Amino acid sequence: MEQLDWKNLPFGYIRTDYNIRCFYRNGKWGELEVSTSEYIDIHIASTGLHYGQEAFEGLKAYMGKDGRIRLFRWEENAKRLIKSAGGIKMAAFPLEKFREAVFRVVELNRRFVPPYGTGATLYIRPLLYGSGAEVGVKPSSEYTFIVFVTPVGPYFKGGIKPVDMLICRDVDRAAPKGTGIYKVGGNYAASLRAAVAAKEAGYASSIFLDAKEKKYIDECGPANFFGIKNNTYITPKSESILESITNKSLLEVAGTLGIKAERRQVPVEELAEFSEAGACGTAAVISPIRKIVDPDKNMIYEYCRDGNPGPVTMKLYNKLVAIQYGDEPDEFGWISFVD
Ligand SMILES: *Cc1c(COP(=O)(O)O)cnc(C)c1O
Repeated sequence: MEQLDWKNLPFGYIRTDYNIRCFYRNGKWGELEVSTSEYIDIHIASTGLHYGQEAFEGLKAYMGKDGRIRLFRWEENAKRLIKSAGGIKMAAFPLEKFREAVFRVVELNRRFVPPYGTGATLYIRPLLYGSGAEVGVKPSSEYTFIVFVTPVGPYFKGGIKPVDMLICRDVDRAAPKGTGIYKVGGNYAASLRAAVAAKEAGYASSIFLDAKEKKYIDECGPANFFGIKNNTYITPKSESILESITNKSLLEVAGTLGIKAERRQVPVEELAEFSEAGACGTAAVISPIRKIVDPDKNMIYEYCRDGNPGPVTMKLYNKLVAIQYGDEPDEFGWISFVD
């Protein structure tokens, strides 16, 4: 194959050799099927298309210095997909099958796993949707699971760089008893108006507030929010946030670095008290925040005044990335080897 330019890979889709599919029919999951096609045949009346019965996951394969391919906490993604399936009444994709599918798709596409040191990774995208025909609003009786991979460049080309965020008060991504805690496509559809408005105004993302009172920080675009004050990592607790595996890991990693950690409601005004702030998720691990603008309240909260990410943010980032690539011992047991 033509050699990919690993260092200049975009954060986008590139075709790979194989993907894996699995179908749920007559009340049970079939065998995993390997495909070379990038397309699927889909029934025109499938619930995934009409009623948003769709959930997905995102994780990465990392090439270590030793040439071995590592997955980071894949069980957490498997469990979250099961939870998401339950949240929108889909047949759950079993954890063991998820393991098989994810490991297999990485092995089959191993020539696309970017080399150590390029900052690029192999992004793994599992998805699950209702594929049976229904016209009335009800759960499908058939489901399709797919997992594909695509090599992605580093989220921040030229190194981790602080971004600006816009507080959004006129769009809600999810309601307290709604589907915000599930990783479903519908939440993303609901967030797009805010995302586009933020991008058009020159911001990386919008920050959503809790839908009920508009008093607390909720989700930070497609990532979780955190703030740092008094050597403490503080991340919002809410009924409408998607529980990020990166965030959960940072909460634990903090302890080993002598950083305190709290998960609790974060009032908007507290933004003024943080010395550092950031967003976290698999894509970038951490996006440090330079500035948060709240246009309705005429407020600007500034961090990273020297243009660089803060010291606590960098400590957390470096430690987690070192674990993911195998540069530091896996003291938490978070790494699985594909080969
Ligand atoms: C996937 C996702 C995240 C990040 O979760 P990770 O497990 O860390 O990748 C955060 N917020 C939303 C809304 C998401 O969909």
